[in-house]
Amino acid sequence: MAASVKVAVRVRPFNSRETNLDSKCVIQMQGKSTCITNPKQPKDGAKNFTFDYSYWSHTSAEDPAFVSQQQVYRDIGEEMLLHAFEGYNVCIFAYGQTGAGKSYTMMGKQEPGQQGIIPQLCEDLFKRTLENKDPELSYSVEVSYMEIYCERVRDLLNPKSKGALRVREHPIMGPYVEDLSKLAVTSYSDIHDLMDCGNKARTVAATNMNETSSRSHAVFTIVFTQHRRDQLTNLDTEKVSKVSLVDLAGSERADSSGAKGMRLKEGANINKSLTTLGKVISALAEMQGSKKRKADYIPYRDSVLTWLLKENLGGNSRTAMIAALSPADINYEETLSTLRYADRAK
Ligand code: ADP
Repeated sequence: MAASVKVAVRVRPFNSRETNLDSKCVIQMQGKSTCITNPKQPKDGAKNFTFDYSYWSHTSAEDPAFVSQQQVYRDIGEEMLLHAFEGYNVCIFAYGQTGAGKSYTMMGKQEPGQQGIIPQLCEDLFKRTLENKDPELSYSVEVSYMEIYCERVRDLLNPKSKGALRVREHPIMGPYVEDLSKLAVTSYSDIHDLMDCGNKARTVAATNMNETSSRSHAVFTIVFTQHRRDQLTNLDTEKVSKVSLVDLAGSERADSSGAKGMRLKEGANINKSLTTLGKVISALAEMQGSKKRKADYIPYRDSVLTWLLKENLGGNSRTAMIAALSPADINYEETLSTLRYADRAK
């Protein structure tokens, strides 16, 4: 297995709809492996997958097998943060059907112990920079927050900017969004306030699946710069790392949510970016496995999402993906397709 992308899956507790429908749990986990059973053929329909992590968050926190928000952060967030300190670009994204637990894993909730990867990573980042005792080293942190909806980019930190922003390419820095706000922050509470405003501005629209199903990709980016001033020579050097934290749009297929018209077009666009993201990641994994493939084979340009994440996937970067799973028999087909997607990313 090419080790370019860390892949985790996580199964949440039943939601009230699933409980009311008296759903059965179709997921089992043991160590790194996840098994899904076809509820229509329970005897011979089980399929097994192995990932870097299989997170059981289906039962209550009292269950010894239960994996907490802190554990998910320690395994994935902290590792990626350490790579950022080493100077790599990093990317963590959450994939899965609407309601499967992407936002919970990435953002979480305000209550103690419920914070997701993004707040924990930001807190940890500032904690580590404050612990720095090296007089030659200083840090700066800038953040941006955007939404990609139907292949158009919106600035979530500047909701007044009405139209879509242009995506351009810098000859050295690569693709970027023109006029996207980039705000300097000096503490986690700055970031928290900005994200709060940004989250309120996110496009959410109702579908038959879920009243607040999110149809857009939310990309939160931290540009982390380590400045070093050599006291003898007075020479300055900089190490810049881009940390992209991505809450992807729901992966459910348009047909299963009864979509028509605009919704169907939305669905097609969402599927296009998710399919392209999948292709990019498997192409990168293959490229690692065989020296023959060239980087120009990677189809970054096929979607805005992958184009903008180009510098955070492949090359000088480290990527992790968390696929969120519903435990319920009624979501079997979608959950199986999420597991297959995650399996191809390895
Ligand atoms: P998505 O972002 O994939 O649409 P959410 O993260 O909003 O889904 O999750 C849907 C609901 O399930 C939320 O109420 C969330 O708090 C809950 N949930 C998701 N994952 C977990 C988990 N691992 N543990 C407890 N509750 C969860």
